[in-house]
Amino acid sequence: MEPFDVVIVGGGPAGSVCAAFCARAGLHTLVLEREKFPREKVCGDCLNPSCWPVLERLSLAQRVRDLPHSKLDSVEFIAIGGRNVIVDLPSGDDCELSVKRSLFDALLLKRAQDLDAHVREETTVRALTHNGNWKIETAGGENFSARILVGADGRNSTVAHLCNLLPRPARERVALQAHIPLPQNFGSRIVLQFLPEGYSGQAPVNETELNLCLVGTPPTISRLRRWAEDHFEITADQSWRTITPLTRSPVPCAHQNLFFIGDAARVVEPFTGEGIYYAMRSGELAAIAISKIMRGEDQQATLREFARACAETYRGRLWINRLARMAVLWPRVGSLFIRAAQIQPAIISLLTRKIVSPAWLY
Ligand SMILES: Cc1cc2nc3c(=O)[nH]c(=O)nc-3n(C[C@H](O)[C@H](O)[C@H](O)COP(=O)(O)OP(=O)(O)OC[C@H]3O[C@@H](n4cnc5c(N)ncnc54)[C@H](O)[C@@H]3O)c2cc1C
Repeated sequence: MEPFDVVIVGGGPAGSVCAAFCARAGLHTLVLEREKFPREKVCGDCLNPSCWPVLERLSLAQRVRDLPHSKLDSVEFIAIGGRNVIVDLPSGDDCELSVKRSLFDALLLKRAQDLDAHVREETTVRALTHNGNWKIETAGGENFSARILVGADGRNSTVAHLCNLLPRPARERVALQAHIPLPQNFGSRIVLQFLPEGYSGQAPVNETELNLCLVGTPPTISRLRRWAEDHFEITADQSWRTITPLTRSPVPCAHQNLFFIGDAARVVEPFTGEGIYYAMRSGELAAIAISKIMRGEDQQATLREFARACAETYRGRLWINRLARMAVLWPRVGSLFIRAAQIQPAIISLLTRKIVSPAWLY
């Protein structure tokens, strides 16, 4: 079989966006995705406003706004014990909104397909060899060949694992997520609530459903789940999705004929709700670099430029991520911070604005 120019493992936001831009640049592109779409995913379902410019460049912004969604107008931070601080979010067309990942991810993958990327769902990559070209073996026994390989297969990246690049998780935490009936009068807010065992994130995703996330450690997660059952009056047979780890060291994103994008490259703290943006933007940057390499431009210079552009995307935001991670690893410290913010609200408004920045910056 003729080799593909690029094979992308994973059809989440990183992989689909990379595939869409590669295909639009005329590259023979294949996405291999383990699941059958539409599928849900452990996520808060919130789209940071910085996503809009990438969606505009894919002519998808209006189609995302046409999906069932909720416009989010504020974040309420709640400390252990119930004290709270509310921070307004930007309004207008480019506001923060929440949309179920089943709908959002399927739209992105369909866009890649419409731009002529080939997509194979229910296809799990399980072995790789590199011998000039990449040979990619799947669990179903099919083989594919590619000049360039992209790992877009999330935080537990098989591609990184098979290339001996996957770091150990730094500190194991676990997340649970469910869509539950929307409580009456919940409003259009995101709730970020510290609890003695961890934290909970809540956001409406349409007129009838609430996205509920719980983040704790293996010993505390069942207590958090019982808290959620009481607090939201949900039954013990509610089904939950789960994921771990929530923290690990980054995988270098640029290698000879091999790229890592999205969570496969770097896992950010879910508390700040920015992972989808980083996934999409790194997918776009990888597509630009891959197109240059396929046109015969200097590979080393292009890889350096890609790595620099990825680092630039995170610059100025990683310290907030570390701060958020500290607050959630020690929820009592996070709660103290909220109490301080009640006295001096400018601190928390500033931090929130830094995370939820106007779209024109990107
Ligand atoms: C609790 C929690 C809440 C979060 N809330 C938010 C939020 O509100 N907003 C936000 O922006 N971010 C949030 N995030 C982060 C966000 O979910 C991720 O950053 C984002 O999904 C990364 O996209 P991705 O495309 O890199 O990876 P993924 O979305 O994980 O996609 C990877 C894809 O690869 C496929 N795959 C995996 N292995 C293989 C294989 N071997 N072969 C083929 N396919 C494979 C998977 O099926 C999957 O479809 C949250 C994360 C957590 C854990």
